[in-house]
Amino acid sequence: MTLTPSLSDFDWIVLQETHAVEGVTPDEVWSRVQYHNVPAFRSMIEPALRRLSSLNLVRSLELEGHPLWMRTPQGHLIFNWRTQLTWPDPGPEPRPGETGNNRASAAPCDQYRPFHGQPGYCWCGWYRDEHSAQAQQSKEATP
Ligand SMILES: [Zn+2]
Repeated sequence: MTLTPSLSDFDWIVLQETHAVEGVTPDEVWSRVQYHNVPAFRSMIEPALRRLSSLNLVRSLELEGHPLWMRTPQGHLIFNWRTQLTWPDPGPEPRPGETGNNRASAAPCDQYRPFHGQPGYCWCGWYRDEHSAQAQQSKEATP
């Protein structure tokens, strides 16, 4: 699975707006999408969700007959990595199991790698200060 799938700008916006712990309805996605100032129609929402779903980036739950959409862990990873790549120094690719949005392990990792989506946090999901002193310094030690 590539970390950088080829998606339209609109699909990226829909992926961004499915970020919700409790899930969002297609109407909620639509109301959020309208803040992005892109040409869009309400009828574009479900097809975009289905495309993202076919890539395993979002999934839907039925709640009393109403679909609720949310990102999968893979969706978090793909979206977060794309955002990270807009920074001058994105750093190394996330390690297997890491998404940026959740703790990937029971303890901080061995090398602090800044996750720009949440300043002060590492891709492993732990705060910088929770890493060992050596793990916090290893990035600076590498030229
Ligand atoms: Zn870490």
